[in-house]
Amino acid sequence: MRVTASRSGILSECRYFARDDVPWGERGDTLYSTRGTMEHAFAEHILGGGEVDTTPRFRQAMRKEVADWLDIQRTSTTIAEVPFALNLETGAARRLPKTLHREYMGALPEEFCGTADVVTPFPDYVEIFDFVYGWRWDYKVAQQRALCLMAARAFGVTRATYSIVRLSDSDPFIDVVANADIDDIELHMIHGELQGWFAAVRGSRPVPGQHCLYCPAKLACPETQQPVLFPQPAPNHKGLVMVEGRR
Ligand code: SF4
Repeated sequence: MRVTASRSGILSECRYFARDDVPWGERGDTLYSTRGTMEHAFAEHILGGGEVDTTPRFRQAMRKEVADWLDIQRTSTTIAEVPFALNLETGAARRLPKTLHREYMGALPEEFCGTADVVTPFPDYVEIFDFVYGWRWDYKVAQQRALCLMAARAFGVTRATYSIVRLSDSDPFIDVVANADIDDIELHMIHGELQGWFAAVRGSRPVPGQHCLYCPAKLACPETQQPVLFPQPAPNHKGLVMVEGRR
């Protein structure tokens, strides 16, 4: 399944981009995605001893506040960068083997995949953290809800919590901007929500909005190809349109 949990925020608004016949453009790296990749590598290094880029540029970009915060969150069971696969039909989920960054090589075609930045399993619930660099963290909520479902099912518990952690270059450098505790009933609701969204993909039409900014299909989408119509100035009492700077 080419739509992954990271696109859940778009999927919650528009199903058209998920159609098999709608082409996606190349993913170009942006300031935010590059920074995000570095933050994830750093978190993985602190939490699990993974490979990390130690060039001065990387070191400069990381803040001591982030390292300290990660240190506090770490427990003996904490894991960074955990890929999951969810069977949409049954609601069962499993952990996938880690391969290249965010590539789900071990997933079946019908599985919906996603990666949690940081996961801590406890005996009766699982806790996940997500890092965001930038302001639009609200689009991460649908992703975190889907990841809670995946993590709870994969670790065999009936409760999950998520926290969205915004990283910034200015104070506050690290800030928990959203969190939620999701019980078993809510987990079932999330499963139903995902099933509904995917069931509506075939034959869907574009639903434009601010979410288009993050859409991988925006270059091919008929809605984003429309010319932008600017409001015209009203004519005066002589029927003439006044143009600024002229009589
Ligand atoms: S650009 Fe907007 S309307 Fe078009 S497919 Fe993407 S999210 Fe939907």
